[in-house]
Amino acid sequence: MDMFSSPDHEEIRRSVRALMTRFPDGYWAELDRKHEFPWEFYAEFAKAGYLGIAIPEEYGGAGLGITEAALVLYEICASGAGLNGASAVHLSIFGINPVVKHGSAEMKAKYLPALTRGDLHVCFGVTEPDAGTDTTRIKTFAKRDGDRFVINGRKTWLTKAGQAQKVLLLTRTTPLEECRRRTDGMTLFLADLDPKAVTIHPIEKMGRHAVPSNDVFFDDLVVPASDVVGEVGRGFYHLLDGLNPERILVAAEAIGCGRAALERATTYAKDRIVFGQPIGQNQGIQFPLADSYMRLLAAEQVTAKAAWLYDNGRPCGTEANAAKFLAGEAGFQAADRSMQTLGGYGYAAEFTIERLFREARLLRIAPISENIILAQIAEHVLGLPRSYGRADGS
Ligand SMILES: Cc1cc2nc3c(=O)[nH]c(=O)nc-3n(C[C@H](O)[C@H](O)[C@H](O)COP(=O)(O)OP(=O)(O)OC[C@H]3O[C@@H](n4cnc5c(N)ncnc54)[C@H](O)[C@@H]3O)c2cc1C
Repeated sequence: MDMFSSPDHEEIRRSVRALMTRFPDGYWAELDRKHEFPWEFYAEFAKAGYLGIAIPEEYGGAGLGITEAALVLYEICASGAGLNGASAVHLSIFGINPVVKHGSAEMKAKYLPALTRGDLHVCFGVTEPDAGTDTTRIKTFAKRDGDRFVINGRKTWLTKAGQAQKVLLLTRTTPLEECRRRTDGMTLFLADLDPKAVTIHPIEKMGRHAVPSNDVFFDDLVVPASDVVGEVGRGFYHLLDGLNPERILVAAEAIGCGRAALERATTYAKDRIVFGQPIGQNQGIQFPLADSYMRLLAAEQVTAKAAWLYDNGRPCGTEANAAKFLAGEAGFQAADRSMQTLGGYGYAAEFTIERLFREARLLRIAPISENIILAQIAEHVLGLPRSYGRADGS
């Protein structure tokens, strides 16, 4: 199977590639250096209608699948924009999925069209400093008070919180100790980032500087009960629906970053003359690049399969996890080898590869780290004993 084979898919790829030519490497390098959000790109991307690619048509979107969304994010990254481009739009393209699936009719009618137009930014608030990957241990608490909730707590790493008006926020509404299952008692909100009750501090990080991630503090944030997404107490399960597609999209981004680096390294290796011949004539330069090309190709096949399974309503957990793992690894390795190909210039900002290297590294950690994927495959595919949490899953 080949996710790029249909004429419709080719058309999507062509048109995103055309749009991305207006945002060359220098555009991203400057924003990365200045730590500035790519507003111009975001506006053009929204105008072209891609933000709503996976949002149902009745809310102004294109109603297409994860395959098409993956193609769009792949092309953004592969253009050289990397994650500075993809992360600027990723949350709009897919982060809102729990609202699409579980939000009330009023909520969807109110927010999805604005999101599709690019007028509304939503960030995604799950991770907490003291809970890490063990989401059941989150402490941010939403206390019921009549027809509203009062939220207190702290989240970390929230990407685009400073640009967003809303946060898709996972809270506890029942303390962990009182829950029958550890995954019960959590509630998802589409809450306002009201500056009177929410403080946002950007985190200094390694790369993807055009798109900040933040520590976010909630002090008595009052939200109406109508901001609850789905059912009170079922927030964790509502989020689970989105995990596989998220992994597929991130895999596509990792492959795009790897391809962008590889393309630049290959071009350089053809031109750079050392010892009287192009460095690309040496097998020591050729073989790592050829090896990375094949690894990206293999990761792409798994990603395409996972996307096809998801879009056709089939189970895809194994493939989505494998895609995220393999693509994250292959993308970063390609960036690393590309840097090596350029020698000293690989380390220079001017040649883009060092930026892609910093960005591709992230995808081995977030939105889920490699060990957790390995643990899931070991347990759920190979049937090995659970290596983390409680054996009964309660
Ligand atoms: C740039 C960036 C942007 C992000 N954006 C967002 C966002 O918008 N919203 C959001 O909610 N979160 C966001 N995150 C958070 C991200 O999802 C987490 O960092 C990621 O899931 C890993 O969790 P952690 O950092 O808490 O690691 P931890 O859970 O503390 O784990 C640390 C390390 O230990 C390993 N580990 C933990 N338990 C086990 C085990 N049982 N067996 C083996 N290894 C184990 C992990 O694999 C990891 O390598 C972002 C992170 C970054 C870096």
